[in-house]
Amino acid sequence: MSTELDFIPPAKPIIGTEEREAVDRVLASGMVAQGPEAAAFEQEFSAALVGGREVVAVNSGTSGQHLGMLALGLKPGDEVIVPSFTFAATANSVAVSGGVPVFVDVDPETFTLDPAAVEAAVTERTVGIQPVHLYGHPASMDQLVEIAQRHGLWLFEDAAQAHGATWNGAQVGTFGDAVMYSLYPTKNMTSGEGGMVGCASSETARQVRLLRNQGMEKQYANEVAGYNNRMTDIHAAIGRVQLGKLPAWTATRQANAAFFDAHLEGVVTPVVRENASHVYHQYTVRIEGATAAERDAFATALREEHKVGCGVYYPTPVHRLETFQIDLDLPVTELLAREVLSLPVHPSLSELDRERIVAAVNTVAKAGA
Ligand SMILES: *Cc1c(COP(=O)(O)O)cnc(C)c1O
Repeated sequence: MSTELDFIPPAKPIIGTEEREAVDRVLASGMVAQGPEAAAFEQEFSAALVGGREVVAVNSGTSGQHLGMLALGLKPGDEVIVPSFTFAATANSVAVSGGVPVFVDVDPETFTLDPAAVEAAVTERTVGIQPVHLYGHPASMDQLVEIAQRHGLWLFEDAAQAHGATWNGAQVGTFGDAVMYSLYPTKNMTSGEGGMVGCASSETARQVRLLRNQGMEKQYANEVAGYNNRMTDIHAAIGRVQLGKLPAWTATRQANAAFFDAHLEGVVTPVVRENASHVYHQYTVRIEGATAAERDAFATALREEHKVGCGVYYPTPVHRLETFQIDLDLPVTELLAREVLSLPVHPSLSELDRERIVAAVNTVAKAGA
């Protein structure tokens, strides 16, 4: 029985009996490492989300970005254009692959790469662009594809938060040379931990497969120095079940978002471009004009006075983290880092939860206005 005092968590993975039965089936088979479940998961994921492109399963989204970039031919010192307003993995994956992340600003409405800023950042050392479909809203893919083609750059989509989002009616992940999806527990679907790499060419896919498994396609015929970034069949079995549930979960996220759009007051609600569908990994509002301290106080009031969990993704722009410490002026990124606040939008919200979230946000916004 739920009472009004239950804390509404900001995210909540849904693991059902089907997932448990799938894991049991793999455990009972005695073959738990990468095998037939992972292969079936790749096929099903490709058909459902990546327009039939070849997909390679790996042990995390970050591994997928790392291997994908190596497969695309990234060499030490090569520059890759990335947003700074994202999770650190976007830039980390460039850095650990030997490349140099070049941070540019984002669009203030969609929070995704600003194509004009990308164009301005291209140098003779640039080899690729890594747009992030942040919170589940697609980046401006027509302009980014055009810029990439004109300069001969590869495009690697970071779709960690955007399983199934569309742009001009096509799913994200079908625009670039490669795409990565994360299967971390708080993402729109999970395998426990895991990542999927979709590839436009079968040669890129082959390279990712080689790098995933010690450089081997045939056992003990190692071709290159590779890694062990395989996905176990235990994880793949969970992912296969979750993939089947994703469409209904996405529809619920979208219905929750529509409810918030209609009822929230005193905050800036998310923009959805006319040619886009948003899958609401996060429902992120802006507390317009707030300082970081004021936004943090808003979040504290939601949590402590109203028991509404919420999150700030991301409070520090990646270029300013200790990892990179780059002195850059990215005004939209700085503004968003001060103002954004993500509300629970996950598919386990009850109707009462949604009403409590709206009442809480509207009350706190009014008190602060
Ligand atoms: C989660 C995430 C990643 C990394 O995925 P993992 O599976 O956690 O390694 C990369 N980019 C973005 C934008 C993410 O949200």
